[in-house]
Amino acid sequence: MLRFNLLLAILMLLSVTGACQQTLKPKSMNHNENPSARNPYYSRTDTTKLQVSNEEWKKILPEDLYAIAREAATERPFTGKYYTTDELGEYYCAVCGNHLFRSTSKFASTCGWPSFFQSEKGAVKYKRDTSHGMERIEVVCARCDSHLGHIFNDGPAPTGTRYCMNSVSLDFVPDSESVK
Ligand code: FE
Repeated sequence: MLRFNLLLAILMLLSVTGACQQTLKPKSMNHNENPSARNPYYSRTDTTKLQVSNEEWKKILPEDLYAIAREAATERPFTGKYYTTDELGEYYCAVCGNHLFRSTSKFASTCGWPSFFQSEKGAVKYKRDTSHGMERIEVVCARCDSHLGHIFNDGPAPTGTRYCMNSVSLDFVPDSESVK
């Protein structure tokens, strides 16, 4: 019975890690250092829908953020800067500054990416994703349509939902640093 449980645990782990593809090596670039300095579309207060071409984004965004946000790449698991973050604060879209998650919706997931059980109201949109031979639901920013990650139905209460996000796609502002 013990061996069976162990086998089951290994199989579950494999299925979870297989749920997000490993396609991009992490980089040490810090997007939090005044992202609006080189990105005129970035705003944490303006909620106007953006219509910006990938050609334009490519000139503006750091290489790793462009690959994930605009080409749906995935950062390697257990490497993202927010995977273990448990500070109180707000998570914004790293591309446009749209408010996506409150830290109180974040939970300690074993999947290797920052995980949330709930997004801010109207902050994200969902798309069917059949890439890599899998049937998944992609999560994109509702303001700039950038790829954020995927959503799964194995999250904790109260929603049972797991937003599996790329750290690179997020900007975190701790409550201690936010200007109210
Ligand atoms: Fe965005």
